[in-house]
Amino acid sequence: MDKVNILIKKEEKRQQETLMMIPSENYASKEVRNAVGSILMNKYSEGYAGKRYYQGNRIIDEIENLAIEKAKKLFKVAHVNCQSYSGSPANSAVLFALLNEGDKIMGLKLSSGGHLTHGHPNITFSGKFFKSVQFGTKDDGVIDYEVVEKLAKKEKPNLMIIGTTAYPLILDWKKLGEIADSIGAWLVADISHVSGLVLAGVYTSPVPFAHIVTTTTHKTLRGPRGAMIMVTSKGLKKDSEIASKIDRAVFPGLQGGPHNNTTAGIAQCLIEAESKEFKEYGKQIVKNAISLANELTKGGLTVVTGKTQCHLIVIDLRPLGLSGNVVAEALEVGGIVVNRNSVPNDIAPPFYPSGIRLGTPAITTRGMKEKEMKLISSWIISVINHFKDEKLPDEKNERILFMKNFRAKILKDKLLISISKEVKSLCKKFPI
Ligand SMILES: *Cc1c(COP(=O)(O)O)cnc(C)c1O
Repeated sequence: MDKVNILIKKEEKRQQETLMMIPSENYASKEVRNAVGSILMNKYSEGYAGKRYYQGNRIIDEIENLAIEKAKKLFKVAHVNCQSYSGSPANSAVLFALLNEGDKIMGLKLSSGGHLTHGHPNITFSGKFFKSVQFGTKDDGVIDYEVVEKLAKKEKPNLMIIGTTAYPLILDWKKLGEIADSIGAWLVADISHVSGLVLAGVYTSPVPFAHIVTTTTHKTLRGPRGAMIMVTSKGLKKDSEIASKIDRAVFPGLQGGPHNNTTAGIAQCLIEAESKEFKEYGKQIVKNAISLANELTKGGLTVVTGKTQCHLIVIDLRPLGLSGNVVAEALEVGGIVVNRNSVPNDIAPPFYPSGIRLGTPAITTRGMKEKEMKLISSWIISVINHFKDEKLPDEKNERILFMKNFRAKILKDKLLISISKEVKSLCKKFPI
């Protein structure tokens, strides 16, 4: 076998034998992967269906129209663009379409569960080309909509881009829509993490309240790595030109030819999302997350906001004086793959945050249910208790050295080795 295929096989084994609990990850179906790996990638299709710059696009037009029609029907939106290469470029296109350089945007802080593209200052496109104001959460991790309203009225942003990557509660889209309307701002709802839950009917849809809705297609939607920008009828009412402004911002504004293989994957994941099984899947994702949150709380851990209403949980490790790095690295050796994450008003540096984030979309795709959640939480609790004395030093160089030694030490840890074996045998019972 050649080098690349050997590495793919290795990664496949890793995915089979460990619990993928990063909430933005999932296992796409074989049909989605077939589409993405297909000959469709050989074709150039700059432009849109019926208006291409290249010959030979009749079938590609059908594929793109299929994806668009499915998305319009499922999300109940007026216009869809599915050409953005991924979630971040999709958000860039929306800002580019609706704003002028120097306009003001407002979003939820990254450290409070927002996304980089929602105006994170200094280092991102959204924070450099626009004036950006951001809000956080209360100390308990819950958004205070009065604070959001006050900030909006004071700062009068031209656009509010709101969405979550690490916020366990359902957003109040109605309230956010009212706030945006009260200042005449655009409301862009970024449902990248939860679009699959929206389609399953277990998470409030922003469509009646927002002007634009963006989503990635590879998270709870379980499709290929890609994105969609959707214009709602409320958006069209605000600006009848908005659909073509969005399309032109994607191409030729930011991109060249669309990835037709991805477009086909998007059509396929939307067809899958129409099924009854997908609704059951979405419900089970949330049931599993709630069960996990309950078990972890019973085991003495602190879950941010005290609960979850979606697919993810953030554990606040401050009460234990532990760092997210220590716990995430240890869990990985035990076969449980999570990511470290900031907690509300975390004073620890972003590279060494005080929490971990975990989610249920991928393990629910494998068929795991509440019974398995009990088992998984018992492992997480025992790992955290086992390493409760491993405190990360404050000083920068000491911290680096500490983590280096810790990483070496945990490879030989008996508890982690035994948990990783149990994880492996659980995974065998739930093949991808
Ligand atoms: C994942 C995500 C994005 C970015 O998607 P990429 O495909 O990684 O660029 C944007 N916004 C939110 C809310 C996300 O969760």
